[in-house]
Amino acid sequence: MNIAKSIIFSPCILTPSTSLNEAISLMTKAKGSSCQISYSENRIPASKNIGQISSCILIVENKKLVGIITERDLVKLTIQGKTLQNKTVGELMTSPVVSLLYDEFSDLYIAYSLMRRHRIRHLPILDIQGYPIGLVTLSSLRQILSPRYFFRFRQVDEVMTRHVIWDVPSTSVMEIAKKMVFNQVSCILLVEQKSDILTPLGIITEKDIVQFQALDINLKELTAEQLMSYPLFCLKPEDNLLQVYQKMEELRIRRLVITGKKGELLGIITETDLANLIDPIEMSGFLEILKYRVSQLEEEKAFLLQKQGIELNQAIAENQFELYYQPQFNLRTKKVFGAEALIRWNSPEKGRVSPAEFIPLAEKTGFIIPLGQWVLETACKQIKDWQKEGLLHLQISVNISSKQFHQPNLAEEILKILKKYEIPPQCLKLELTESVLVQDIDMTLEQFKMLKAAKIEVSIDDFGTGYASLAYLQHFDFNTLKIDCSFVKNIHKNSKNAAITNAVIRMAKQLNFQVIAEGVETKEESDFLYANGCELIQGYLISRPLSARDFSKFIAF
Ligand code: C2E
Ligand code: MG
Ligand code: MG
Repeated sequence: MNIAKSIIFSPCILTPSTSLNEAISLMTKAKGSSCQISYSENRIPASKNIGQISSCILIVENKKLVGIITERDLVKLTIQGKTLQNKTVGELMTSPVVSLLYDEFSDLYIAYSLMRRHRIRHLPILDIQGYPIGLVTLSSLRQILSPRYFFRFRQVDEVMTRHVIWDVPSTSVMEIAKKMVFNQVSCILLVEQKSDILTPLGIITEKDIVQFQALDINLKELTAEQLMSYPLFCLKPEDNLLQVYQKMEELRIRRLVITGKKGELLGIITETDLANLIDPIEMSGFLEILKYRVSQLEEEKAFLLQKQGIELNQAIAENQFELYYQPQFNLRTKKVFGAEALIRWNSPEKGRVSPAEFIPLAEKTGFIIPLGQWVLETACKQIKDWQKEGLLHLQISVNISSKQFHQPNLAEEILKILKKYEIPPQCLKLELTESVLVQDIDMTLEQFKMLKAAKIEVSIDDFGTGYASLAYLQHFDFNTLKIDCSFVKNIHKNSKNAAITNAVIRMAKQLNFQVIAEGVETKEESDFLYANGCELIQGYLISRPLSARDFSKFIAF
């Protein structure tokens, strides 16, 4: 049985010829007549008594549901001044009845939507022949549908009803009943009135009136004071709705009175107010829209990725990529000792596209693998060309992305390229960001081992911006730390940046790593770094990234 069907209760059933008196006594005394059932094919519910008073009676004739009587119908009868004597259920019942076939009751929303649309609190569930095998009530539905989560951060005054129907305790119950029917409310508040201030004293609900009807007491002779429930449990407007919800559950009541600082009446909050707040129909509709929108966006994204993937593939085939080289400088020897290779995309349509834009995309589409291969190949070929020009000691750093690094044959592939261009592994350096190191640790350690065996050096790029601490990084056998440009910026003026960078430089020295500062733009930054033990720098101060030809000229100069 699904969750929706688990909230069906067994109904109180009578025939149209039953006397109204009997119906009322069933409603008021028949505790346990609404029971949770687990429906079985033989239509006899295996009931579990949960001690709830039935607030409606279903009328059946010839094994078919023909009508319904609710508490509201009985209150209406009372105010018409009609006695219950000699009246039958059939005379008072509402017919036809909004109901739902058991087989169609596949989820709670169907029941809830029907009840909201028809403004009813009881929904009979019928078998295929039209016999009411169960009853779903608004209260039981709401118990399941009210996620506490929605109430926690919302306040009483957001939803409370300020226009309260009230009267004074000396009023006759008959007048109270009339007021209820006239205003279409299920309760009247009894108050003490002093000038403009109303202080709540008690409450009378439809159920209270029906209970007295059963005793056949003349309601005109009773005053509200004799019938009302009190003391009242009151909350404040600033209380949160979860408190309201919990109090209603604990006291088994459907309304709470809201009072101000001096105990004055401000409003009332009902179960319906809470339920309206989380209208599941709207929520499920909203979720449907969201789901649809997300799937649309995913389709668009997939389409865009595919389109851009095709563009990138085309770009590599048409030679639109180019490597630029940013010099790396030794402040002590005053010489360029190497360069970082930085990719550029010269797109005929888009112009110069930044790697920050297309590298993440290439990662997603997997294009980074052939692209990374192209970068390694181009850089090694360039190293060879420079060596031929007599630049023998340059070390070129190449950025390696996460997907590329986690390729099992990376070291092998690099060795193949080094061999192809006949260059020693010391001429190449791989730059990895910290984020690469925190993924798939076992594989990363294995990769480091292979690179070490192949004598290929590794730098940790953008150090300080990722997730890894230096203590963590020690597990990996790398050679150089690149201090991220964000720490370098204004290092001579920014004491926090200075403290971090100095600590990193000190630790690196102890642990025998090389340190290089990137993004050095000013002489002051460079001087500060050098004075604090960092000799190697890269940044606009030395040079912007240059084309291969410009790089040769830069070195020669
Ligand atoms: P990165 O590896 O940290 O590269 C340094 C970036 O800082 C480069 O940006 C460089 O042009 C820039 N830069 C250098 N000096 C300065 C300076 O003094 N001030 C400032 N503000 N910036 C400076 P670029 O070339 O746009 O590259 C951006 C990122 O794209 C790189 O950051 C790297 O993560 C990635 N990337 C570049 N080429 C490749 C590549 O061939 N493969 C992979 N996987 N990623 C690459
Ligand atoms: Mg880099
Ligand atoms: Mg960097």
